Amino acid sequence: MKLSELKNNQTAVIVKVRGYGSFRKRIIEMGFVRGQKVTVVKNAPLKDPIEYRLMDYQVSLRRSEASHIEVISLEDSKKLIKIPFEGVIAEERLRNIAFEKRKHISIAFVGNPNSGKTTLFNEATGSHEHVGNFSGVTVDAKLGHCKFEGYEFNIVDLPGTYSLTTYSPEEIYVRKHILNEAPDIIVNVLDASNLERNLYLTTQLIDMDLRVVVALNMYDELEERGTEFNYEELGKMLGVPFVPTVASKGKGIDQLFREIIDVYEDKEPIIRHIHINYGENTEESIKRIRKHITLNKELTHKVSPRFMAIKLLEEDEDMKKMASNYPEGEAILKSAKKESQRLNDILGTDSGTIITESKYGFIAGALKETIKANGNKDAVDNSKLIDTFVTHRLWGFPIFFLFLYVMFKTTFSLGQYPQEWLSMGIDLMQQGLRHIMTPGPLADLVINGMIGGVGDVLVFLPNILILYFFISFMEDSGYMARSAFIMDRLMHKLGLHGKSFIPLIMGFGCNVPAVMATRTIENKNNRILTALLVPLMSCSARLPVYILLIGTFFPSNPAAVLFLVYIVGIVIAVFVARIMKRFVFKDEEAPFVMELPPYRMPALKTTMIHMWKKGEQYLRKIAGIILLASTLIWILGYFPQNDALLAPLNAEIEKTEADYAE
Ligand code: GDP
Ligand code: MG
Repeated sequence: MKLSELKNNQTAVIVKVRGYGSFRKRIIEMGFVRGQKVTVVKNAPLKDPIEYRLMDYQVSLRRSEASHIEVISLEDSKKLIKIPFEGVIAEERLRNIAFEKRKHISIAFVGNPNSGKTTLFNEATGSHEHVGNFSGVTVDAKLGHCKFEGYEFNIVDLPGTYSLTTYSPEEIYVRKHILNEAPDIIVNVLDASNLERNLYLTTQLIDMDLRVVVALNMYDELEERGTEFNYEELGKMLGVPFVPTVASKGKGIDQLFREIIDVYEDKEPIIRHIHINYGENTEESIKRIRKHITLNKELTHKVSPRFMAIKLLEEDEDMKKMASNYPEGEAILKSAKKESQRLNDILGTDSGTIITESKYGFIAGALKETIKANGNKDAVDNSKLIDTFVTHRLWGFPIFFLFLYVMFKTTFSLGQYPQEWLSMGIDLMQQGLRHIMTPGPLADLVINGMIGGVGDVLVFLPNILILYFFISFMEDSGYMARSAFIMDRLMHKLGLHGKSFIPLIMGFGCNVPAVMATRTIENKNNRILTALLVPLMSCSARLPVYILLIGTFFPSNPAAVLFLVYIVGIVIAVFVARIMKRFVFKDEEAPFVMELPPYRMPALKTTMIHMWKKGEQYLRKIAGIILLASTLIWILGYFPQNDALLAPLNAEIEKTEADYAE
């Protein structure tokens, strides 16, 4: 519970102090350290401040300060011990309980798309989240747990972002999470092969004055290129420890967690809060805005005043809204407006640009001192070489469509064999049961209704797994991002964005994650339109129906017809998109920014996990809704039993079957 929630005369022991760096430091310096006993002297509801007795003196804290301190009260600890216990618990024992509680560390993974957050998350928590090599696979936060050296970790895998401005839904999400949930430690996952851009986000975390550990991921690629990187030195410069990791091979993860513990226990000497210098004039402006912010204590308890001042200079809408919620808000906003006007006059550009440029200048300088590139740029060049073909103006399309055709062809042809085996297995099972069970409604329900119904759908599992194998491969290798790139011009003709292509193609797998993936599109109209078009893409659940119908009506050329069915869906989508764009979503779209990550050979394990994960969803649907529906359909078909009515029908069926047998 929070210290602010204690009532008069209640005693508690401090578990941990949350909040950003300098705030936390101040509270700790006042004596609110872990394991310390606090008693409430006076806590009047809705009244500030609250008076406490700590060690042998009295201190008062504001409610908003006390709410950042996690404690365990005497009453709660009694419950934990679970023995009816009336007397006073020995202080020592209470301390031990607080100490145990303290061993829960909440961490959040923050980093650019494709830096390997999800891979790291999976490796650490043992869960099987979907990993992909294009921006925006992670559109939601995922929660996981793990244990290491006596500590328990709650890990959140946040969506990938390049920055903490409020440009896209992901960025807003990540910033809200950091400010509201206040994780104990932020793990900033960097792609070591692309340091310059990745460190941009790090500079923002530094501005926020958080406790950060950097996971220098993809360290293998950096080494492969022969780059010499003195990351320890850089860590000292930034006041943040760096730990090299290779998430895809599970390397460096123990070291990373050891470092997290050290930082959490305040045992890492490197940790310090640095100020990135934004130039004399900007610093002066920051100082002036900051002065207004610090007048409101409650605000400064929540967010670093320097960070807020910087964000206000960048004209950050979300930050403006946050400030305006407080009584001093108006003065703060007025000062920010005045300062940004002043900077504009002196420097001739807007303050946002100045801050961004200073950040990149800072990074360039820091890297120059710590990095030595030694020629060997194979990895980059390979990607470039492949890209000259794959993203070529003309060849790009045939290569892409060839890939799609191969994907569908394989789904159909290769999937046929395991499909037949499954079908045979189900037949055998039905026959076996017919021998064992006495004929009657129950036997009919189990054999024809349930097994028959579920079996009809189950046999398509191999096809679905193969399809997902291809989609995962495309995502993990980096080809999915290229397909978005080459499709951009075409998508523009529909009034869509190159980024819309990824959700649309994912729609072939399953519409649900595809609609979710549209959240990576910045422009709201494009986002909604894309989400509306996704259902026109034939999802894998429709595949069984297609295969069944095609198999029956077009046995001579199934793959081509299947291809055509998909194309028809696309053509309809084109029409719908054009009509909607013409009449409903008339807005201009945002300029296209889509990075091309280097190609990576996807780890087979990752691809298989992803494939299986999707297959599992399909199986779950079978076990639930399809089983229910089959039973229902069986009931509708089986009752009422009226032989007189059925006799002519059965005769007809027999006749047809006999005709076919000839
Ligand atoms: P996220 O967007 O940050 O969650 O990134 P992902 O975890 O989805 O990873 C993106 C791609 O990078 C995947 O294809 C991973 O297999 C690959 N990857 C992750 N970590 C490493 C690493 O340390 N080295 C190399 N070479 N590849 C990695
Ligand atoms: Mg991810």
